[in-house]
Amino acid sequence: MTDPLPDPALGEPFLLTPGPLTTSAEVKRAMLRDWGSWDGDFRAMTADLRRRLLEIAGDRGDCECVPMQGSGSYCVEAMLGSFVPRDGKVLVLANGAYGLRAAKTMGYLGRAFTLIDKGDYLPPRGTEVAAALAQDPAITHVLAIHCETSSGILNPLEEIAEATARAGRKLLVDSMSAFGALPLDMSGMPVEAFVSSANKCIEGVPGFGFVICRRDALIAAKGNSHSLSLDVHAQWETMEATGQWRFTPPTHAVAAFVEALKAHATEGGAPARLARYTRNRDVMVAGMRALGFETLLDDAWLSPIIVTFFCPADPAFDFNRFYEAMKGRGFIIYPGKLTVADSFRIGCIGQMDAAVMRRVVDAAAAALSEMGVTSATPPAAALATRATLAA
Ligand SMILES: *Cc1c(COP(=O)(O)O)cnc(C)c1O
Repeated sequence: MTDPLPDPALGEPFLLTPGPLTTSAEVKRAMLRDWGSWDGDFRAMTADLRRRLLEIAGDRGDCECVPMQGSGSYCVEAMLGSFVPRDGKVLVLANGAYGLRAAKTMGYLGRAFTLIDKGDYLPPRGTEVAAALAQDPAITHVLAIHCETSSGILNPLEEIAEATARAGRKLLVDSMSAFGALPLDMSGMPVEAFVSSANKCIEGVPGFGFVICRRDALIAAKGNSHSLSLDVHAQWETMEATGQWRFTPPTHAVAAFVEALKAHATEGGAPARLARYTRNRDVMVAGMRALGFETLLDDAWLSPIIVTFFCPADPAFDFNRFYEAMKGRGFIIYPGKLTVADSFRIGCIGQMDAAVMRRVVDAAAAALSEMGVTSATPPAAALATRATLAA
């Protein structure tokens, strides 16, 4: 991390959120120029971006990278609509908001799907996938969420991929909040296609996402899409033929992303990023636990992306006051998304290191004492939730 931002003098807080996140000064500066979308310089940036992403994905020459305008959900919808034939059927593996959103998308697409819903915080296991696939021969594809950002759980992608491949079905992955840090190697894992976006672990700004897929699957996807603007095959065809995006690209976000990709490589690629995020998480979680906070998940399922904490049982604790007290100290945290217990989340990704995470813990301690909270211990019922997971 060179040139640390945000600048507290400008009143800019750190975003402890899983994207948009805190970006570097270089990434921000790359947006201070206008680009013509048809111009050779911009087309070269698009080509560079696609090449760098394929390299991170471990491509051995049989994959393609297709950037798509819009937020991450647009890419999930584009992937489902393009790779699942109209008479296909998807097994959606859900354990939080993003899995459920994928199922809802299938409903909009009007294509067949079936859902394994593990609730708020339990992982879908390979054995369950194998059983569901054996039971229903109509299923053509499985959709898995790599890191379910709503709880922060790191789902067991390898065993899901293995079960899917063994049953002769195809795997689609929402790796939105994982790709660029957690391993997703197209040379070693049977994945047909996955999606991620500019504003997560690559540390760019929002504006577009990308599909990384097998070339033969992409060729076979021609004509599948329900949507003109979300047709991955058509976007690819145009990009291959002209070097351009089909419709107006987010030029500034693309320029920022190329800068973010260079920094990603300089840092040491996905392994180095994973190491920094892991350290961020470990320092932050240890500090929060020392204050009495408890994580929703056991260590085995904790992702290095974002961590869910239970709200303290102490009646003096109020999330909105806690949020404002943290913000006043320069840190934007994230509300929880659980149905089982009150919670909040702290992200570990973006331009932050362990020193910043120590300041986050200090800020949490100060916020608690400002509210008159003497113990951050969660309610007993919340801890009982945790025991279910361990069992
Ligand atoms: C961020 C994210 C998305 C996409 O959300 P958008 O708000 O559309 O960018 C999808 N899936 C997961 C797991 C995510 O973390």
